[in-house]
Amino acid sequence: MSSIYLEIEKTLERRRDENEKLHRKRVEEIYEKIPEIREIDKEIRSLGFGAARASLGGDKEEASEIMESIQEGKAMKEGLLVSSGYRRDYLDEIHQCDLCKDTGTLEDGGRCQCYKKELTHHLYKMSNVERMIERQNFSTFQMDVFSKIPFEDYEKTPWENMNDILEVVDAFLETFPEPNDMNLLFYGSTGQGKTFLSNAIAGELLERNYIVVYQTAFSLVDILEQRKFRNDGSEELKLKYELLLEADLLVIDDLGTEMANNFTNSQIFNIVNSRLISGKKTLISTNLSPSDISKTYTDRIFSRIFDKFVPVHFYGPDLRWER
Ligand SMILES: [Zn+2]
Repeated sequence: MSSIYLEIEKTLERRRDENEKLHRKRVEEIYEKIPEIREIDKEIRSLGFGAARASLGGDKEEASEIMESIQEGKAMKEGLLVSSGYRRDYLDEIHQCDLCKDTGTLEDGGRCQCYKKELTHHLYKMSNVERMIERQNFSTFQMDVFSKIPFEDYEKTPWENMNDILEVVDAFLETFPEPNDMNLLFYGSTGQGKTFLSNAIAGELLERNYIVVYQTAFSLVDILEQRKFRNDGSEELKLKYELLLEADLLVIDDLGTEMANNFTNSQIFNIVNSRLISGKKTLISTNLSPSDISKTYTDRIFSRIFDKFVPVHFYGPDLRWER
């Protein structure tokens, strides 16, 4: 695990180096083509020293006058760039991420979103989820595996039902960036395509550059218990926990297979609830029926949570997909 952090640090360092090189190249190029800008830069630098001296000496008025001259110099530079056909910001420092300037760390010491995004990508590479997504995505999804023969007492055939499900999934993906309380609860027995569609959704959103975290209920509980009982303050654990709260999509697969107790139930509740409050989407898939869920998770608030989920019922003969 710790090698992941090293790798991310290296990635960020490479990014900073490349951007710095590119920036220096641009400066040289412009100095060559528009020598006036070199002179203006010299002037700005010496003004900068003057401003620092003035403000250290407590002369606020002079400092602010100098700052004004610096701004004028910058405006002149931009004017020269634009009139030579360059973008106004051509000589600005270059960062992939303006929030942290590619350091991965924010001013308050917290980890930046871009760092967390790198981390989820690395975690995906490590887990087998990435391989799953390669196999299970919308382009490999086959409608013809679903039966057009009525199943048990259901009004719709599994095929018709899957058509309805895909419409819900489409709506979910289409409105994903909107804070519309549209979360998904996939339920039904195994082998109906719940995990397949969860993976397809995760893959689609990863492709759109969202942070997606995929946890089985079992591994989720493991994180929560480690955090409670072995709180060694490790960054790994802290980040894993933060990601549960902050990911744009959290997929909780197989809810109900974990060893549920009051502690884990209330923790899972807390995570889902704070995600609801901050407008982040959650996809839960479970073999439990809604009535089983209310029996397992007796917390009254849990039922309130599920009001914010669209229940999506999978049924039909076992397709043996999810083994
Ligand atoms: Zn950043």
